[in-house]
Amino acid sequence: MTGDDLKRERLERGWSQRDLARRAGLHHRSVQYWEGQAEIDPLAHAVQAIARAFGWRVSPHHYARVRYGVLDREAELAAIDHYFAGALRRRLRRMVNRRVICGAKTRKGTPCRAKSEPGRKRCRFHGGKSTGPRTPKGVARIAEAQRLRWARWRAERAAPE
Ligand SMILES: [Zn+2]
Repeated sequence: MTGDDLKRERLERGWSQRDLARRAGLHHRSVQYWEGQAEIDPLAHAVQAIARAFGWRVSPHHYARVRYGVLDREAELAAIDHYFAGALRRRLRRMVNRRVICGAKTRKGTPCRAKSEPGRKRCRFHGGKSTGPRTPKGVARIAEAQRLRWARWRAERAAPE
């Protein structure tokens, strides 16, 4: 993600740099600075504030995943390559490709010592291969289930027992 991407997002909302700065609680020069950058650090304080003002969740990296409808590792790596460059790209790619010890409880009751699938917590025998829903129908099904779950949660919170 580049400064131009931030600028495009701002203009889509019809906001001036000062509008965005006010909403993000930043000085307008801070907005100006990041819009001028060739590479955006999603962990920078000001970038996080801008992301929140846009209604993005967590970080531009996360937003890129949402915008691309990332459902598997290959697509996520492609999104990272599109949005980021240099050291940051390498860091994010490492995060996606990282392998750890699985640690799932085996039938013997001991932790599994196999390496996880790249970017996941579990090995291929313990669910590491699963990438969630892939088809539009599957995605819609999960989205509906989550919508119902949150509706239930809100209803329970509004009227406890
Ligand atoms: Zn395992």
